[in-house]
Amino acid sequence: MGKCYLCEKKPNETWGGYWCAECRQLKNLGNVYGFERVLEILKKCCIRDESQLESKIENQKIGKKVIADSKSENEIRTRSKKPEYA
Ligand SMILES: [Zn+2]
Repeated sequence: MGKCYLCEKKPNETWGGYWCAECRQLKNLGNVYGFERVLEILKKCCIRDESQLESKIENQKIGKKVIADSKSENEIRTRSKKPEYA
């Protein structure tokens, strides 16, 4: 079997086929949503410049801090009084 025409790494899914299983899924997504839309989504979601990467890292740090803070507040609240749903 030959190699996939798209990724050029994996073997073709079927004898006489052109794509591997994963690339066929990509192709199917492109057929459903349109290749322009799929490319647009990939560019928006997967490609980040350095400042965007730093913002993402900072957001993760802040997010973890907020979660940690809210957890400690919950612990204090549950120790001093019962939660309303209980
Ligand atoms: Zn492939």
